[in-house]
Amino acid sequence: SKAIAVLTSGGDAPGMNAAVRAVVRTGLSHGVRVMGIQRGFNGLLSGEVVEMNLRSVSDIIHRGGTILYTARSPEFNTPAGVQQAASTCRSLGIDGVVVIGGDGSFRGARDLTESGIRCIGIPGTIDNDIASSEYTIGFDTAMNTAVQMVDRLRDTMESHDRCSVVQVMGRRCGDIALQTGIAVGATSILVPEVPYDFQKDIIERMRFTQKTGKKHFIIIVAEGVGGVEKLAQDIQEATGIESRATILGHVQRGGSPTLRDRVVGSEMGSVAATLLYKGKGNRVIVMQGGKIVDLDISEALNMKRVFDKNLYEIAHRISI
Ligand code: ATP
Repeated sequence: SKAIAVLTSGGDAPGMNAAVRAVVRTGLSHGVRVMGIQRGFNGLLSGEVVEMNLRSVSDIIHRGGTILYTARSPEFNTPAGVQQAASTCRSLGIDGVVVIGGDGSFRGARDLTESGIRCIGIPGTIDNDIASSEYTIGFDTAMNTAVQMVDRLRDTMESHDRCSVVQVMGRRCGDIALQTGIAVGATSILVPEVPYDFQKDIIERMRFTQKTGKKHFIIIVAEGVGGVEKLAQDIQEATGIESRATILGHVQRGGSPTLRDRVVGSEMGSVAATLLYKGKGNRVIVMQGGKIVDLDISEALNMKRVFDKNLYEIAHRISI
């Protein structure tokens, strides 16, 4: 009998489990078999595929990471790899796959669809770096973790009148930095989308706020801007204020998903499974205008991300 399958690919993100759970239970509710593919596209090359039932996804909605494991698979990313993955699917009776991951994973989903296995993508990545979707699963949890961590740094910075330069995740996308920066009252927020001037955007702002009585400072830097050790040194030399760099790193990828990531993951997973059940493929599930909708994968991959300049200007205006 017909089966659909689900895999998680690329970086893990909190809320992926909620999406996996929703795919499994929605598929079963439509009367189709559901398979779990382990370690991303790798599982389709190695045959690590397990049959899922209602209880295989019990007790996972509150867990970070992904019960299916995830991987980057250079072997899959070749014409022969895609062919082999498609033939694994055919031999297991899988005619549709839900792929939870980022843009790279969506390209894999498009290629597999072209080889005859219908795929539906779901945006799962903490960076919020997918152009076609206003929201990616894991973003809210990652930001909440970053805010908690910076709040802790703030306690110790305040006690010493120091400057804290904190690197948050986001290689090409400054969304985590922007929203975290607003939430912690950062004096400056550095993102890959907006070039910055060391004197004007950091030192002059610190001096101005210092004159009005501010004694401790937080600078939030996106991973894609980087260089926080050097930046902290330069700030200390320019201002005489003791400055420390902190790279938050992978703590932002872990932890129990927030309500938002559980709910968005659940809705996207369920919509994806129903589309597969209805015979659709080559689509991605995205959020647009706050609603969950589906788009053609190639169309989605061609979209250009727009950075929220308005919010960035607001941050600048009020964090002073
Ligand atoms: P994240 O942004 O969280 O890292 P991602 O999905 O963008 O997620 P990638 O490492 O880019 O992560 O991609 C995951 C996997 O998708 C790759 O290891 C590869 O197997 C597959 N993939 C990536 N790019 C392509 C491509 N152009 N064609 C086919 N498959 C691809």
